[in-house]
Amino acid sequence: MSQAAREFIAPGAVLGVLGGGQLGRMFAQSAQAAGYEVVVLEPQAGAPAAQLTTRHVASAYDDADGLHQVARTARAVTIEFENVPADALQWLERHVRLAPHAPAVAVCQDRAQEKALFERLGVPCAPHALVDDAAACAAAAARDLFPGILKTARMGYDGKGQVGVRDGARLEAAWRSLGGVPCVLERKLDLDHELSVVLARGADGQMVHFEPQRNVHRDGILFSSTAAPGVIDESVAEHAVRAARGVAEGLGYVGVLCVEFFVTRDGRLVANEMAPRPHNSGHHTIDSCDASQFELQWRCLVGAPLPQPRRHSAALMLNLLGDLWFDAQGRQREPDWAGVLGLPGAHLHLYGKHEPRAGRKMGHLSFTGPTLGEVEAAARAACALLGLAPF
Ligand code: ADP
Ligand code: MG
Repeated sequence: MSQAAREFIAPGAVLGVLGGGQLGRMFAQSAQAAGYEVVVLEPQAGAPAAQLTTRHVASAYDDADGLHQVARTARAVTIEFENVPADALQWLERHVRLAPHAPAVAVCQDRAQEKALFERLGVPCAPHALVDDAAACAAAAARDLFPGILKTARMGYDGKGQVGVRDGARLEAAWRSLGGVPCVLERKLDLDHELSVVLARGADGQMVHFEPQRNVHRDGILFSSTAAPGVIDESVAEHAVRAARGVAEGLGYVGVLCVEFFVTRDGRLVANEMAPRPHNSGHHTIDSCDASQFELQWRCLVGAPLPQPRRHSAALMLNLLGDLWFDAQGRQREPDWAGVLGLPGAHLHLYGKHEPRAGRKMGHLSFTGPTLGEVEAAARAACALLGLAPF
């Protein structure tokens, strides 16, 4: 890497982010706190990140004028969303410092490539097959992959683009129901729990990580993430961190990377997928650690030193989905924020989205405290106040 590519970009400079959702918003909040300005490329007016900056380029991610404008305005650019078209990232990379690099993002855009990388690096993943035509369906149907989950190779999130497949006879119909696009069929594993590792790697190869958090999904969407001593077996955590760091090394990655893992009932650690950016499961770091995942994101981008983040509190994060804005009769209501804000260690984060919809991530609520027991008690009280099913 050239000297220019590593040069420190001092506060006052403009940093760019592709995507204007909540991850872009929290990136901007953190970078702005340190004195950087932020330009957001995001087609939608009033998007969560665009609300925070006067430098909003409102164009499609692959619009040449929009990309030119960002490259001209920003000293360095990152992403909050991995599905930016590969061509746009390649173009940007030729004109401005980009982290993560386009080829690493390309791997994260495609489940098949992700799994191939895991396998190449010796990181176990679920038994799977690529399904992209009728013949591949027939071949996969004959394998020991059922009951399985068929996932579109690209563009899936929050359980979208996935269907369960009970047996081989139903595979081709399931594949057609997903639009006949390239898919990955995975065996459905018997999970004991899930966890994720968020790490940051600088352009000079320096790498730091947060301790893994334990994640609970409901209906394919992250429900909670917990970070506290004892929530994950030490040797499992160590193994996951080693695997995630190996993936970042293997990719020559620069930026914040999250790797999601399953722990099966028989105790095996299996990599699920990864995200080339801060991750929902790492949101608690804003309140529980002395440097958040978003701070590490801009530090990587500007070539600042990376401190080993230290978690000073136990933490439990709950996602706030649009469902909470509706009562049992489907009438819109405002959640009981005053009640929630009265709970010990509560940190409310709302993303400025004006239209609540079922399954839409409207915000999150983190609880911090001295012990796991205390943050769990506060989070249980929040569930009761908000009408969330208890955990
Ligand atoms: P998304 O991109 O929507 O996050 P994931 O592949 O992470 O897609 O799947 C979402 C959730 O579905 C996982 O966190 C897990 O709870 C469940 N899941 C996905 N794949 C499997 C599998 N092979 N076996 C068991 N559960 C799975
Ligand atoms: Mg996932």
